[in-house]
Order: sequence, then structure tokens, then C-alpha cells
Amino acid sequence: MYKIFSSIFILLFCVNLLFAKDVITMKLGKYNITGICISSINHDKNLFRYKNKDDLKKFLAKQNSTASAVNVFLLEIDKHKILFDTGTNSKILLEKLNNININSKDIDVICITHMHYDHIAGLINDYNRTFPKANIYIAQEELDTNKNSDLFLAYSNRIKPFKQNEIILSFIKTIPAFGHTAGHTMFEITSDGQTLLVCGDIIHAPIQFEEPNIYLTYDTDPIEALSVRKKMMKEYSNSGKYIAGAHLLNGGIGKIQKNKLGYKFEFIEK
Ligand SMILES: [Zn+2]
Repeated sequence: MYKIFSSIFILLFCVNLLFAKDVITMKLGKYNITGICISSINHDKNLFRYKNKDDLKKFLAKQNSTASAVNVFLLEIDKHKILFDTGTNSKILLEKLNNININSKDIDVICITHMHYDHIAGLINDYNRTFPKANIYIAQEELDTNKNSDLFLAYSNRIKPFKQNEIILSFIKTIPAFGHTAGHTMFEITSDGQTLLVCGDIIHAPIQFEEPNIYLTYDTDPIEALSVRKKMMKEYSNSGKYIAGAHLLNGGIGKIQKNKLGYKFEFIEK
């Protein structure tokens, strides 16, 4: 009986991934934003933490799966083609960009939320830089804690450190969101009254909408990370502003709504 149930579960999980959207595009005022899923992951349930183990089990039991994605976001405006994070694999990233008629040389700016592998691996392709004409914007705090990164060799003076709350290119606002890492940063973009927040790893799994106090062991300072998550959800829920999450499914873009249980994420339609 167990085998039948586990086979059904695996089948449902695969069907779920099959129908998950991997590229989604929307207009943000005058700009175009595209969410691109680079790969899928399934969080091990042992990585989740909560103040009470029994309550955590109940929360996890209610979830259909712990499936998650690795997304990057492309912002297109008149003069620039900008990537936010680069995912786990440069070849897959280039292939997916190629599918939407974007060449590696077209990307002139890349904003990195933090320097974990699943956000920066796409920057290097066969020991060379994947994006020959791009400047890479990374928070000073993040660079200070990753001094031996291969990125320094590959991109050298194309790495542009920024300070928190600095505005990049006059329209990308950097917002400190420490806790997941020492320099984790969110990016807010506004055009014609519409706003979108690239929130990086502030949310790893859908369960964190229902209970933002649940965290995964990936956070270096979980207490700080969950306080940032709660502040962000309070500020952005029911605000009409869009959220773009690095590990949300269906291309990762949508809005947060407050409900009786906590919060809910509503994906934009393709
Ligand atoms: Zn991540």
C-alpha cells in the first residue's frame, strides 16, 4: 500500500513540474519583466525549522510538495537588458535566453541578490565570463564575505560594489535584507506607478507564506532573516506591488495577499 501511495505522490509531483510554467513575461509600466525558471529543486523536509517540531510537522503535512524552483529575472528597458541573479547553470541560462531572442552580449547589467551558488553559477561558463559586456552589481557586504570567489578573476573591474539603499542606474533601488547571508539585498523597480520587488531568498518555500516564522537551514542568521521576511510581507501584501522570488514556482512573479491564516501568493497568469 505504501508503495502505491508513494508512486502516486511521485507521479503527481512530476505532473506538477511538467505543467509548471518556466517562462513568464509581464509589463511593469514601460518595462518588460521576464521570470525564467532555470531548474527545479525539492527541499528535504529535514531542512525546515520552526519553534515547535510538532506544529512544523502539521504545517508540512498540509503541503502538497516541497517543490521549488531556481529563477532569474530579465528586465528590459530602452537602453538596458538587466538580469537579476543567474541561477545554477550558465548553459541552461544561455539556452533559455536564446529562446527569447536574447544573446549573452545583450546583457549589460546584472544585479546579484547574494553570492550563493544557485544565484551566481550562471555568471561563469567554462571558466570564462558568460556575459562579456555586463557589469555585475553586488553589495559591498557580500563581496567582503566572499573574497576568494572566482568572479573576481572572471569579471575583475566589471564588478561594481554598491552600498545599501543606493540607487543603481537611477531606477533600481537596493534594499538591505540581511540574514539569509551577510549582504543579501532586494531590488525594487518602479515604472509608471507599478512596482516590483526582486526579493531573492527571502522566501524559499510556499509554506513560508502561511507561516513566515518557518525557515530553512540555508539562512546564516535565521532570526534576522525571518524578521526581514515578516517586514517585507507586511509591507508588500495587499499593496498592489509585485514580488519576484528566486525560488517560487511558475516563473516566480506574483502578489502577496493577506488572509486569515497568514499570507497567500497569487501568481500572475501567462
Ligand atoms: Zn537561493
